[in-house]
Amino acid sequence: MTVIELIKVSKSYPQEKIPAAKEISLKIEKGEILALLGPSGSGKTTVLRLIAGFEAPDEGVILLNGNVVSEQGIALPPEKRGVGMVFQDYALFPHLTVSENVSFGLKKMGTRERDQKTAQIIEMVGLSDFQNRYPHELSGGQQQRVALARALAPDPELILLDEPFSSLDPDMCIRMREDVSAILRKTGSTAVLVTHDHEEAFNMADKVALLNQGLLQQYDTPEGIYHTPLSPFVADFVGKADFVPGVIEGGKVVTEMGCLENKTAFQEGDEVMLMIRPDDIDLRPNPEGKAVVLDRQFRGSENHYRVQLSSGQIIHSSQHSTAVYPNQQPVDLQLQITHIVAFAQHEVAQYQREIRT
Ligand code: ADP
Ligand code: MG
Repeated sequence: MTVIELIKVSKSYPQEKIPAAKEISLKIEKGEILALLGPSGSGKTTVLRLIAGFEAPDEGVILLNGNVVSEQGIALPPEKRGVGMVFQDYALFPHLTVSENVSFGLKKMGTRERDQKTAQIIEMVGLSDFQNRYPHELSGGQQQRVALARALAPDPELILLDEPFSSLDPDMCIRMREDVSAILRKTGSTAVLVTHDHEEAFNMADKVALLNQGLLQQYDTPEGIYHTPLSPFVADFVGKADFVPGVIEGGKVVTEMGCLENKTAFQEGDEVMLMIRPDDIDLRPNPEGKAVVLDRQFRGSENHYRVQLSSGQIIHSSQHSTAVYPNQQPVDLQLQITHIVAFAQHEVAQYQREIRT
């Protein structure tokens, strides 16, 4: 069942040269977590605010459970949509205790039902021992849990989270990603998570909508976005990607690193750029090898190598944490690519020009 559907939704702000969101279409099914991913200023918060009803679209339609809630210049207000929001700064009421913060949105319930519901949600987020504390008496992670509990308490149709982990330190951030995912799954919540961090999107979401400059670049599963990016921008934004020149010859993609079956839409004679991820390449030390190790970065669970090809191009390879080779070690490269992704050479060149400026 579709909870939210956006159909060609656009929004521009006065004085801004490009639209903050342009012709965005996407669907969120019941119980799904959608990540709105993109660099700063790409339009993520704008799309979230359009979904919430804080903004009205200039064009397009938004449906909630099949009913139109937004169209040109009109937006049903957030409180009538049944959305729960979790903000980056948590926005807790400082003069209210944990319990009072959580029960704040339950005014319509009778006292008994309200107390029961509050206790139940507080227990679920693991704060039963803290229910009488004030926000300033809690850690960042605990405040985050209160914010989530408060948003979940009225059983909203949809939970919206805008960069909810960005003010936590990295360890806490990873824990809270796991905990918040578990709570959202346990409650069967439908959620939209705004993040600029592709790992966060990949870890938490069922679907990812990747935005850049107000445009939806790709709407796909995390695996689809990572393995089969539709553009050099997407390829590069969600992980390390090298682009190695090649040509389609005899049904193969021929590059200096080797040949692969041409499973792309490119035709005989086309000049392409093959996308290579660090996990697509295996290094085999060989005194006769044509490539050479430049340096190694130890990352604990893996070694990250920079390798120079005979053409001079530098590519990246991740190897097992125990695969340690010295700098200047000649190596053979073995391509282990399960998803062959290639772009037109001019497309990659244009992308590389754009990121340099
Ligand atoms: P993100 O959340 O991805 O960082 P935003 O949706 O906040 O991006 O912003 C997208 C674009 O819209 C940016 O260029 C930003 O400057 C602009 N913008 C956002 N909110 C407003 C506003 N209230 N008034 C004018 N411009 C805005
Ligand atoms: Mg934002």
